Amino acid sequence: MAYKKFDTALIHGGISTDERTGAVNVPIYQTSTFKQDGLGKMRGYEYSRTGNPTREALEALIAELEGGYAGFAFASGLAAETAVLSLLHSGDRVLISSNVYGGTFRLLNQVFDHFNINYTISDTEDVESFEKDITDDVKAVLIESPANPLMTVTDIRAVAETAHRHGLLVIVDNTFMTPYLQKPIELGADIVIHSATKYLGGHSDVVAGLAVVKTKSLAEKIAFIQNSTGGVLPPFDSFLLIRGIKTLAVRLDRHVANAEAAARRLSEHPAVKSVHYPGLPSDKGYEVNKSQAKNGGAMISFELKDNYDINVFYESLQLITLAESLGGVESLVCHPSTMTHAAIPEEIRKKVGITDGLIRLSIGIEDIDDILEDLEQAIKASEVE
Ligand SMILES: *Cc1c(COP(=O)(O)O)cnc(C)c1O
Repeated sequence: MAYKKFDTALIHGGISTDERTGAVNVPIYQTSTFKQDGLGKMRGYEYSRTGNPTREALEALIAELEGGYAGFAFASGLAAETAVLSLLHSGDRVLISSNVYGGTFRLLNQVFDHFNINYTISDTEDVESFEKDITDDVKAVLIESPANPLMTVTDIRAVAETAHRHGLLVIVDNTFMTPYLQKPIELGADIVIHSATKYLGGHSDVVAGLAVVKTKSLAEKIAFIQNSTGGVLPPFDSFLLIRGIKTLAVRLDRHVANAEAAARRLSEHPAVKSVHYPGLPSDKGYEVNKSQAKNGGAMISFELKDNYDINVFYESLQLITLAESLGGVESLVCHPSTMTHAAIPEEIRKKVGITDGLIRLSIGIEDIDDILEDLEQAIKASEVE
């Protein structure tokens, strides 16, 4: 049956059933290799690093959801980024948004630098300043929007248009939004990457990465790199991700409704110094985010006033769990400056505004009253006389 709507594609997109048996789920093809019927006579598969039917179903699904030419599944978000950045050559430079995921920064700052692939932190929120950073060696831009952990919003259309005028490859990390809330390829991106560990998986039970490319020529290159470098997603994890993606829309609707309520409550709270959430009309990224995404997502960061002890705040939370990661059904809290963004040197953290008082929340799908009550009692407990 033909279908048109995104929510239906989440369940029936890509390769969603098993042709041979009629199973309504794609089987977990837990096999490393495939019989060949004669020399050079393959049945479409030869070795699971190169291609596996369960992984292929996931790859077809994410390509369809992001509106790209092809999808690729990797063992983690960083493995997906590594494969995509491997498109660059020695002497090339990539511009990155001023607060990207700490691991992205570390990958460029401490691994790709070995190969003379360089980066510049660029203020992609300001298109004019971004354009000034495009030197002759710049070949790509990597955008996160909203960017982690200050939820700064980049105008993806404007940056992509400027980048393309200079011949750059436009890469968007869409982890925080997912294709349900934001479709970077429609906004001009050439490549979308995901830490599928987060909302796409959605249940904090799998580490995975995805990349989606817009063109056949990029697909051929990434397929070659994926097979050559080998950081592929195993069949069972591919199955878990397909399973998680089926409920993406219903989960995110609840995540976002809860996050909007929590952001509103925090922004009105007398103990709170600042709230960063692009779904609040008072947020500086609100208008641009609204022009390119369905809503503000479910990630919030905030700071308490100086007479609150954040160590006590973290220790007082009872429902919201202190842990790395985000995007699962359970609410999580983290401390960016010592956790997710610890790999970024202190002076750079300070410069981009990742203060030691910054608290990041991944709002889950629990009852909002319980989430608000937990925040309230932890804030109260952390007040210093
Ligand atoms: C977690 C995360 C990554 C890294 O993904 P892993 O699956 O942990 O390797 C990249 N980008 C963003 C925005 C993330 O939140």
